[in-house]
Amino acid sequence: MAQPVIYDTCLLSHVAEIGYLHILDFLYKDRPEPRWTPAVKREVTKGAAIHVFCKQILALTWLGEPQEPQDTNAVLHLRNQLSSQDDPQTANMGEAESIILAREVNGSFMTNDFGAYYRAGEKQYLAPNRVFSACNALNEAREYGKLSPIEVEEAHNLIRAKRRMICDCRLKLP
Ligand SMILES: [Zn+2]
Repeated sequence: MAQPVIYDTCLLSHVAEIGYLHILDFLYKDRPEPRWTPAVKREVTKGAAIHVFCKQILALTWLGEPQEPQDTNAVLHLRNQLSSQDDPQTANMGEAESIILAREVNGSFMTNDFGAYYRAGEKQYLAPNRVFSACNALNEAREYGKLSPIEVEEAHNLIRAKRRMICDCRLKLP
C-alpha cells in the first residue's frame, strides 16, 4: 500500500503560489493520512491573513486533520538543529514536526526548504528515498501526462523567480 506523504509549509506554499496545487491533489489525495501537522496548519493559517495562496491550501479538504507526532522531544531537538539562535521559538517547528511524523508513520517527507531537506536526509532522520521536493511531484505528474515537459520546466522557473527551488528531479515516490 502507498505510504503517507507529509508536506511542510514551504512545499505547500511554493506549489500553491505558482498555481499547481491541483497536481498534489491528483497525485497524492488517495494516499493514507496523515498529510500535515498542527504547526504546518498554524503557519499556513497565519499566512492566509496575507496570501491568497495560503487560503487555497486551507481549502484543500483532502489534507484532512493535522496529526501531531508523538515524540515531542525529538521534534524539539530537531527544531533546535534547524534553527539559529536568533530564530523565534516557533521557527522551523513545521519542518521538525513533519520530519518526525514522517518517520513515525513510515512515510515520506516533501519540502522545498533547503535546511529541512538536507537535515532530514543527511542526518538520517529519514532514508534518502523518503525525502522529496516539489520536483518529484512535478515529474510524477509529467509521467501521468498531467503536465507537459514544458510545464514542468515552467513550474521550476516560476518557483525560482520568487523562492529558492530545490531541484533533485528524482521520480516516483515509494
Ligand atoms: Zn527539478
